[in-house]
Amino acid sequence: MKIVLPDGSIREYENEKSLNEIADDISISLRKKSIAAKVNGKIMDMDRVISADSEVAFLTEQDEESLEVLRHSTAHLLAETVKKLYPHAHFGVGPVIEDGFYYDIDLGEDVLTESDLGRIEKEMKKIASQNSRIEREVLSYDDALNYFHDDPYKVELIKDLPKDEEISIYKQSHFTDLCRGPHLPGTKWIKHFKLLSLAGAYWRGNSDNKQLTRVYGTAFFSKEELDDHLQNLEERKKRDHRKLGKQLDLFMLSEYGPGFPFWLPNGMILRRELESFWYDVHLKEGYKLIQTPIMLNKELWEVSGHWYNYKENMYTSEIDEQEFAIKPMNCPGGMLVYKRDIHSYKDFPLKVGELGLVHRHEASGALNGLFRVRNFTQDDAHIFMTEEMIVQEVKELVRLFEYMYSVFNLEYNIELSTRPESKYIGEIATWDRAEKALADALDEIGKPYKINPGDGAFYGPKLDFKLRDSMKRIWQCGTIQLDMNLPERFDLSYIDSHGEKQRPVMLHRALFGSIERFIGILIEHYGGAFPTWMAPVQVKVIPVNNDYHLGFSKDLVEKLQEKSIRVEMDDRDEKLGYKIREAQTKKIPYQIVVGDKEVESNEVTYRLYGEKEQITVSVAEFIDLIQEEIKLKK
Ligand SMILES: [Zn+2]
Ligand SMILES: [Zn+2]
Repeated sequence: MKIVLPDGSIREYENEKSLNEIADDISISLRKKSIAAKVNGKIMDMDRVISADSEVAFLTEQDEESLEVLRHSTAHLLAETVKKLYPHAHFGVGPVIEDGFYYDIDLGEDVLTESDLGRIEKEMKKIASQNSRIEREVLSYDDALNYFHDDPYKVELIKDLPKDEEISIYKQSHFTDLCRGPHLPGTKWIKHFKLLSLAGAYWRGNSDNKQLTRVYGTAFFSKEELDDHLQNLEERKKRDHRKLGKQLDLFMLSEYGPGFPFWLPNGMILRRELESFWYDVHLKEGYKLIQTPIMLNKELWEVSGHWYNYKENMYTSEIDEQEFAIKPMNCPGGMLVYKRDIHSYKDFPLKVGELGLVHRHEASGALNGLFRVRNFTQDDAHIFMTEEMIVQEVKELVRLFEYMYSVFNLEYNIELSTRPESKYIGEIATWDRAEKALADALDEIGKPYKINPGDGAFYGPKLDFKLRDSMKRIWQCGTIQLDMNLPERFDLSYIDSHGEKQRPVMLHRALFGSIERFIGILIEHYGGAFPTWMAPVQVKVIPVNNDYHLGFSKDLVEKLQEKSIRVEMDDRDEKLGYKIREAQTKKIPYQIVVGDKEVESNEVTYRLYGEKEQITVSVAEFIDLIQEEIKLKK
């Protein structure tokens, strides 16, 4: 068999070989530092045996994918340790999540509190240091059921598997877990980890089932990375947008409308700035803007398919004895607008945008500040075109997304999701062409991307934009989706150059995703200290003494207001230090203190939020510099 390595070199072997043996054959040091291997794109344990031609890449601590293997192995170590400390414990599932892992545990009569986590962690370290090998074994369905007969949750999981499939289990020392893997070669790699918190979690997410104890944790290959991450977690707590939303008077939530946010005056400014930025850019890019109704009748949702596939998430009502639904998506309304006119290929690409308010039913337990709400504004657009235009349009979209994210200093990764294995509509050849067009667009502008095989929507392949904020969290925001479904369902057409009727290609795209959620992300990303162009209050003017400096201060405020700069004056009878501190807690970008010197020389002494230095400039210079900053969105 032939083994192709990442550098393109090929190794040939007569007989089957384990990944350990192949690594060893390349170099002993490679085998020693490899924690798993990627075989034809799939991550496998080092003792798995390869018997056919394959592409193999060995993973070491340096590879990002290794972290998931480490973290999942840490979850097994957690289970092994809990089993030792609480022998009657039973285990649910223990997957890897973003930034870490969890394990759901049934402790019977016992209750864990956060104060137990340190003790469990210590015991985990002791067990890990024994460096047990982690070994995979394969059982038949019946043997697996037999093996785990004492573990009700594992039995349930096994019963969900096909009877003719082999079932893998992983053993380390005295502990065995039902698991697909992959895992580390041994526990010695697990050194730098932390158990973080506890939560209740219903078995299989169903509130009719028993509530298990979910233990969250994380793990890294180095102490520095772990420390760095723990510090980040502290920062995230401080920057919680629900807390800052209250402190900065941005938004509120009320028990009278769970999941329906109220925007307060300061938050409204954030929103308006964000929306007008969006409108300006889209008009420049040649988009037409529309607004479609919040409520439309059942017939429309039947045509779009939502009535059959999405009804449980839709709010419905009745008007004149006819059933209506509040829109969960803007697309069907957009289709009606398209159908109003006869279109020609000469109109293409036709780009139609809408900041549309949608409502979706979310379980009350899932609601979370602005991150998970029941009504939100999608920054939607539909682009209608011919198939030949896809590559060019997608290239332009990626450039547009890049520009808009860069204004917020948000980095991103792109993922391409392809045709699902079974549930999809349309011809495979059409899918292949559509997927290739998306990939070609990215290749042509030199953007790297990751492929998620089978992760596309049933109606078409898509590109997802995963943003990374200042605390290294990943947020799925932007999306570009080709849709082969709605143009059919709504019978969309255009007239081609031969005067014949054709079906247009359509794509949906959203850049912020949801304005509400995006503002939530920005609040935490900036820690509430917004750049000047977005800041609800941009300048605070503080006269040192109301008897001497008030006139000049009022004059300055007026001059700034004339230039549409958002300014407030604090002329309360409070101590100067108190007023400065308050402007600090409100995170106002510019603080101007007006004293004798400023009044005499007609100058402004300002201090930027978070800086110590005070700078003195003329009033005219100050106005120029702040206007420039706002214009450039710095
Ligand atoms: Zn596992
Ligand atoms: Zn759409």
